Order: sequence, then C-alpha cells, then structure tokens
Amino acid sequence: MFNLKNWPFLRQIFMVKDDYKQRGLRNKLVKKLRLKGIQDERVLEAVGRVPRHAFFDDALLLHAYEDKAFPIGEGQTISQPYTVAFQTEKLAVKAGDKVLEIGTGSGYQACVLLEMGANVYTIEYNRVLFERTRAFLPKLGYNPYFAFGDGSKGMPSKAPFDKILVTAGAPVVPDDLIKQLKEGGTLVIPVGDRERQKMVRIIIKNGKPVRDEFDNFAFVPLLGDQGWK
Ligand code: SAM
Repeated sequence: MFNLKNWPFLRQIFMVKDDYKQRGLRNKLVKKLRLKGIQDERVLEAVGRVPRHAFFDDALLLHAYEDKAFPIGEGQTISQPYTVAFQTEKLAVKAGDKVLEIGTGSGYQACVLLEMGANVYTIEYNRVLFERTRAFLPKLGYNPYFAFGDGSKGMPSKAPFDKILVTAGAPVVPDDLIKQLKEGGTLVIPVGDRERQKMVRIIIKNGKPVRDEFDNFAFVPLLGDQGWK
C-alpha cells in the first residue's frame, strides 16, 4: 500500500502544506495564549506564523495546535506553546538580538525566535535530535546557527549574547551563561528539581545579575557539566 512515510520527499511537501485549516487552528491557539495571559503581540504574531503541524508525525497531526507538549523521540518533547510564548515574552526579544537557545529539540522555539527577527544560535546535546533538526528546519525556511554539544556551558565561541534562553530544567543557574551575556542582556531559565522548576529571569544591570522569579513549569532535565549528571 502507498505510504507517505516511504517517500520522504513527498512527505516533506505534505508536511509543510499550510492551508486555511491549519491557519485557522493556529489562530485559535493564539487566542488561547492571549486568554492565558500572553500580552506581547510580537510573540503572538510569531506563534501565529510558525507551522507547528510540520513538526508532528502523521499520527499526531491533529494535536499540533493543542496547547500541549508532545514527544519528539529520544525521550524529549516539543514544548507546550504557552511555555514557548511565556519564555519568549520574558526574554523580550528585539529584531536583531543575538540569541542563544539551549536545547534545540524539535527546533520549534528557534523558529519563533527567528520569526521575531532574532539572530538565533541553538545548541543540542542529543546527537539524533541535533542531526534531525539541523536537516529539517532549513526545509521550512528557518536557518539558525546549529551546534552540537553541552549547552549548560553556553557557547563561548560565539559569546557574548543579548539573550539566552534555556529550554530544559536546570538544577542551578550556570555561571557560564551569566558570563556570556552582554550588559543589559537577559537569561531566561527554568530552575528547580528534576520534576518541577520555577521560571527565572536574570538581567545584567551595571555588570551585576538581577534576578526575578515567575511561575512553575515542568521541563525535561538540562544535562551536562552544569546540569543534571
Ligand atoms: N526548544 C525545544 C523545542 O522547541 O522543541 C524543546 C526543548 S526540550 C523541552 C529540551 C531539549 O534540551 C532536549 O532536546 C534535550 O536533549 C536538550 N538538552 C538537555 N540538556 C542539554 C544540554 N546540556 N545542552 C543542550 N541541549 C540540552
């Protein structure tokens, strides 16, 4: 029997199809995020432009615009849209900002940042996800700088950054990340235990880190040198 799974090229065309049905579901998702408290219209517009359904396997396509995290393989998840919007809002991304994302995963968050006009550097610790996402995102027209490695140490070769966004739960705020921020720069990172974390924002003011704390979230663990062992 004919199966798109056996025809990667045709499947690709199918996956990026973005007709009125998908756009309608995306608009509903944006409305839901607004009701949940996301106020930055630029974040909402970016979420409204990224074809989230393109990140889903055929069997899960119907769930693409639910406000839920979903498995992407390798024991990892594509983050819940509300979480992506919340972190992006707290990061206060401006067009032209140099942004480091730690935890590329599916690449969805990187696309939202790119839609906001950021120059995105993204690092992933899982080789399978790194290879998969590096091959996939350009097919959707998104081209961040991809790196493979331990993002708990940041990306010293490309530092300093205007913004750093960590999309996995850390036990502590890694010092290296603070050191790789410019003056006025912002780090958004979930910090806590393996199951539950508080969203933390650090802004460098007069050379010193100023910390704010927000709601609780549940991320997969940040691994590596300054993450969970
Ligand atoms: N931002 C992703 C997206 O939009 O799909 C979701 C990220 S997922 C919740 C967390 C990711 O962080 C996983 O892909 C995991 O492999 C990665 N990760 C965990 N520890 C890491 C580390 N030390 N450096 C880089 N990536 C790491």
